[in-house]
Amino acid sequence: MTSNAAARSSPGSHPLVDLILTTDPRRRTTLGMCLLGTGVYIGFLALIWFYIEPTLLSDQERTWTWLFTSHELIAIFLFYPLIRSGWTLQYDDPGLVAAQMIWASAAVVLGYAVAPVMRGGNLQLLCLIQVFGFISLHPRAVMLTGSATIAMLLAMWGTMSLLHDPHFNPVNEAFQVFPTCFILGLLTWQSRNFGLSRQRMAAEKTRLITATERVKQIALHDPLTGLFNRQHLQTRIDAERDRVARSGSGFCIALIDLDHFKAINDAHGHHVGDEVLLAFAQQAQAILRETDLIGRWGGEEFVVVMPETDPAQAGTIGLNRLKEALGDADLSARVPALRVTFSAGLAAWQPGESTEQLMQRADQALYQAKAQGRNRAVIAG
Ligand code: GH3
Ligand code: MG
Ligand code: MG
Repeated sequence: MTSNAAARSSPGSHPLVDLILTTDPRRRTTLGMCLLGTGVYIGFLALIWFYIEPTLLSDQERTWTWLFTSHELIAIFLFYPLIRSGWTLQYDDPGLVAAQMIWASAAVVLGYAVAPVMRGGNLQLLCLIQVFGFISLHPRAVMLTGSATIAMLLAMWGTMSLLHDPHFNPVNEAFQVFPTCFILGLLTWQSRNFGLSRQRMAAEKTRLITATERVKQIALHDPLTGLFNRQHLQTRIDAERDRVARSGSGFCIALIDLDHFKAINDAHGHHVGDEVLLAFAQQAQAILRETDLIGRWGGEEFVVVMPETDPAQAGTIGLNRLKEALGDADLSARVPALRVTFSAGLAAWQPGESTEQLMQRADQALYQAKAQGRNRAVIAG
């Protein structure tokens, strides 16, 4: 998806929703998940303060409650602003998924200490949090969040056992905590494998795109000069015909043939001939307009497609520039003094004319240019 498309508002989306979640689909997803987490934190706080806190008896329980509350408030006021402001875009994990998972797991572990009635649910929640990593986390981040969660849970079980909390029976809780650690370990491992296969798929996709580009390059270009090949030129001329038929503007083509090229091959060898073809292609690409399309028609013949160009004016001006540039250019490293001229037949497309008919007229004009002594351009009648 292009950045323009990404920046466009989703259909039917309210401006306020766009303001909260942005218009970028990927950021919308991460911000939506972040707000969902914020909602859960707020729900937990409400539960703790309206339902559990009034029943607390000991100072130790109150300390846990305040610790839990501070932890939730930090999450509520930290993650969304960091992600929404775009500050996190510089990182590998712009949605702060790993950080949020560890933070949420810490909240659940703290909640496990604070609210004995919710202990079973909290352990399930820990497993659920790991599932969020399946979608986007790198294998290393998955291992980090999984191990951190297991370590926090075990540390909490150890601490609570040492504190001799009256609501905490270490043996009973061990029957809950250790199987949960085992399940968390399995989930982490699966999530890591999933991340690895996602990475492999991404690498495959990149290789496929590179290979497709390579095949396209081979299919459309001439291997010696790198210019477009004859098949592609024909396609482009057909497309140009369709375009001007609709727009009413015109275009012309120039069929260019290097003069006495066979003599270059005969005198200096095929390699030098190849050098000259390549040098001519480079000069033509550099000299002709950006909008002109040049390709190798075959052998020492080239075609230039010139959109919105009158052959008598801009067309011949362009070819004259090319002629001058060729006069100064070094065409062969082996034979520095070598110079080459070309003859050209120019033809403006006439409405209703096929590509073949257009090329025939250009060829006839080229024939005349050769017959008139070469090193010139003739415009087809
Ligand atoms: P004219 O001025 O009438 O065009 O004469 P010419 O010698 O350029 O024309 P001719 O058609 O007699 O010869 C074209 C030569 O181009 C013959 C062929 O061997 C050579 N040629 C075609 N393709 C290549 C190529 O890829 N590399 C090289 N080095 N030569 C090529
Ligand atoms: Mg020829
Ligand atoms: Mg020739």
